[in-house]
Amino acid sequence: MFSLYLHLPFCHTHCTYCPFAISTDLSQQEAYVEALLREIEAAPRGSAVGTVYFGGGTPSRTSVALLERVFARLRERFAIADDAELSIEANPEDVTSDAIEGWRALGVNRVSIGVQSFHDDELRAIARVHDRVRAIEAIRAVAASGMRTNLDLMLGLPGQTSESFRETLDTAVDLGAGHLSLYMLDLDEKTPLGVQVERGRVTLPDDDLVATLYVDAIERLARAGLAQYEISNFARDGEICRHNLRYWTRGEYHGFGLGAHSFIGGERFANTRDLRRYIDAAPHARDFHETLGADEVRREAIFLGLRQTSGLHYARLVELCGQEGIEWTERGLKDGWLHRVGGSVAFTPAGFLQSNELMSQLF
Ligand code: SF4
Repeated sequence: MFSLYLHLPFCHTHCTYCPFAISTDLSQQEAYVEALLREIEAAPRGSAVGTVYFGGGTPSRTSVALLERVFARLRERFAIADDAELSIEANPEDVTSDAIEGWRALGVNRVSIGVQSFHDDELRAIARVHDRVRAIEAIRAVAASGMRTNLDLMLGLPGQTSESFRETLDTAVDLGAGHLSLYMLDLDEKTPLGVQVERGRVTLPDDDLVATLYVDAIERLARAGLAQYEISNFARDGEICRHNLRYWTRGEYHGFGLGAHSFIGGERFANTRDLRRYIDAAPHARDFHETLGADEVRREAIFLGLRQTSGLHYARLVELCGQEGIEWTERGLKDGWLHRVGGSVAFTPAGFLQSNELMSQLF
């Protein structure tokens, strides 16, 4: 099975914390989709496709008519399995009954909604367009359509408190989300919000509070039937995102569009992040290419395995890291940042909080 990623970089506004290559110039959408179609046309035909993911940007900003052209080209070029997972990212303000009907007609069966918070003051602080009421309406409408839902939530937002965060989490659970992605605000200092924080105009919740709330969220969600399966992801039975799992298990995927990454035949490559250049040059718009050497493969196996709650098989860890891996595991088990999961070792919630630093000891 093979996976496809399609990047649609257009957004309503540029959120103040967002470091991604996005565009608010919707007049470029048609030209962009033409470039995307050229890139798909030029791709080698892959084996059967098990997952397709439309990410962004905000794919829900792109009209159903344009999406229809992209889907038609994908179906001409690839054999998309009947039971494939077809996901689209959407922002609440774009979720209308027409959009839902259009996505369903294209075969979309999973909608990932960028909620971030159910508190209007927190949403305003990061310049999101929607409010609590609009988010709830959108979630209910998608759920009523029968498509699976993911809700993206954020921890560490300006003004966020224990009470407001727990209320956001409880609201998400009460709305029946099958999948939650919980991201900690990782602020790039060059973003407008990063500059405001740097100048002392905006204060963020302190790191200890964020850490406590993250660990608390893991327990709270588990009690509600949403088990953690990756550092930031939680799902009810049968709701795990198959597409993201492909990334974490080093499955092959082909990415199309601005800045999109691919991993095929042991090689990683990526397109330019310059919108003008992509539109003009696609399908010849790559600006990164590497053939993974033994050391990169080793690092990826560690990094991708340990970000999952199923962890990395102990024998594999020892194979990858030798004596250092044995000592690292002993330290982790003793200090409580690792635990055993069957024959594997995995981070505990406290371990996930310092996982980058801890894994770097093995690189
Ligand atoms: S909607 Fe998402 S991708 Fe677009 S600017 Fe906001 S955070 Fe960035």
